[in-house]
Formats: sequence, C-alpha cells, structure tokens
Amino acid sequence: MDEVRRRAYLDALGIPLWVPRVRGAAVGPGADLQNPGGTPARPAIAPATRSGDSAARLDAAQRIDTAALDWPALRERVAACTACALHATRTQTVFGVGTERARLMIIGEAPGADEDRQGEPFVGRAGQLLNAMLRSIGLERGDVYIANVLKCRPPGNRNPSLEEAAACAGFLRRQIALIAPKLILSVGGISARNLLGTDAPVGKLRGTVHEVGPDRVRCLVTYHPAYLLRQPEEKAKAWQDLQLAARLLQES
Ligand code: SF4
Repeated sequence: MDEVRRRAYLDALGIPLWVPRVRGAAVGPGADLQNPGGTPARPAIAPATRSGDSAARLDAAQRIDTAALDWPALRERVAACTACALHATRTQTVFGVGTERARLMIIGEAPGADEDRQGEPFVGRAGQLLNAMLRSIGLERGDVYIANVLKCRPPGNRNPSLEEAAACAGFLRRQIALIAPKLILSVGGISARNLLGTDAPVGKLRGTVHEVGPDRVRCLVTYHPAYLLRQPEEKAKAWQDLQLAARLLQES
C-alpha cells in the first residue's frame, strides 16, 4: 500500500501519524516514542500459546452436530436454530459474511441491533470502523470472513451467557473448519473468552499468538471496534495488533 493511501486509512481510523525527526523514516503510531526517528517498533510476536480449554470450549457444543455440514446445510441449520432462548427474540439469525476462502477470519461476539435488523455482522458505526481497520492493512471487507460467536442477538445487547455461547459454538466451529483461515482475529473480550477459554482481559491477551480449535489456527486478540469508538485512545494499540496480523499473514 502506498504511503498516501496508508495515511488516508489511518486518518479514517482516527489514528494520528507521529512525524519522525529523521527525514524519510516513516513512523506509525506503534512506533517507540523514545526513538521517534529510528526503526518503527514492531509488535513482539510472543510464542504461540494454547489456552488450557480452548479446544474444549469449541468442542463442548455437542448439542449441535455440525461436523458434516457443508455451507448451504450449515446456513439452513443456523436459520432454523432454536437451541437456545435467543431464537425467541431475534429478528433473524446473523450467519456471517465474506469470502469462504478467506485467509483472515474476524470473530466478534454477537449481533447488535443493526446486525439483527440487517442480518449481517459488523454493520453500523462499529462495522465502518472495522472496515477502516482492515483497509489500514490493505484488506477489503470482502477479502476476509466475518462472524460472531453467537448468531442471534442477546436482548438489550447484554453479554451472551456461557450456555448460549456453548449452544452456538458448533456453528462457529464448523465455519472455522470450512474456511480453514491462516489467522483468526478475535475482537473483544467476549470473543476471546469463548475462543480461548480465558477470562483474561483483551489488554493481557493482545500481542500474543494464540491457537484455536483442533486445527490450532493461529489467533490474535484485539479490541472490539465498538470499544474503540468509546475509547479512541486505544486505537493505536489496535493498529499495532493489525500490523502484527498483517505480518503473520505475510509469513503464512
Ligand atoms: S444463538 Fe445460536 S444456538 Fe442460540 S438460537 Fe441462535 S443460532 Fe441457535
């Protein structure tokens, strides 16, 4: 991506570019402020970790057997699902969107009001910010696959219960298996909790390469765009996470 476009996307993200003291040394917001003219800081890649019960979390949803389903059958099963109480209050299920050959899979928590109405994950202001975040690393929305842990909206945008997430996990597990992404970007604490089986906050989980499911798909954790809209000062950290994601995708 050329510098002009990169700056435009960073501007759209609301991330200021820090101007380097040394001419020609472009420095992104992830750079070391103590070394503004030096080599841009690269987020450290911690060794891959596999949370103790991450596989168990994804394997726990025996209530919905999805292992043999292809895409059309999986869509049908989701659309007709009544496995948890959320089916009673949804407008429609929100299956997922994007290319089924995606190298990067974005996983959020659950549909909100806009998503419930439109049937697509990450629409509205949070969706626009996610799109800008993807463009900042040279990806369009259509280049990735976007899904949520839950396919139905929890009333009042409350957090999903463990039971609801467990009931729905078979669908997400099958989506991951069918796509076989090179990398998962888990956005927000609810997504990370369900994918990695940990209650650790996003701030502790980001910057480390985790692994998810039986295929041990590499997974990074970052902040949810809705959180970034409320806490714009955290956007620089999200930018670091995106840079790390871009590096991992390049290496894979
Ligand atoms: S949230 Fe998932 S498990 Fe619950 S009804 Fe919707 S599709 Fe079924």
